[in-house]
Amino acid sequence: MAELICIVCPKGCHLHIDEENGYKVTGNNCRKGDTYGRQELINPVRTITSTCKIKDGNLPRIPVKTVDSIPKGKMIEIMKEINCVELNAPVHVGDVIIENVSDTGINVVACKNMEKVN
Ligand code: SF4
Repeated sequence: MAELICIVCPKGCHLHIDEENGYKVTGNNCRKGDTYGRQELINPVRTITSTCKIKDGNLPRIPVKTVDSIPKGKMIEIMKEINCVELNAPVHVGDVIIENVSDTGINVVACKNMEKVN
């Protein structure tokens, strides 16, 4: 029996997941907790938010994120890939910064407009 705190909403229900009984979830107050508990044990995923270096913008870094959830086990590999990127302004919201990051099929995109200042 695994125990987790649901992070889907601030209520933070204490979940019990029975791996030997079809990943049956108890302790949840809604269906989202059931889905979260199962997924967290079978195939945990996360959305990554981070920043990239950018030249010629009004700030030295620009916020970026994965457009969808990625396997939790690839987080470090993806963060290393994001940390290697150096952009040049201008960059606009939704611009693809890394296509198919770490062969996940997921893109990393810009979350902010950054015009060229020089
Ligand atoms: S189980 Fe439902 S109510 Fe409880 S923390 Fe998760 S999302 Fe919120």
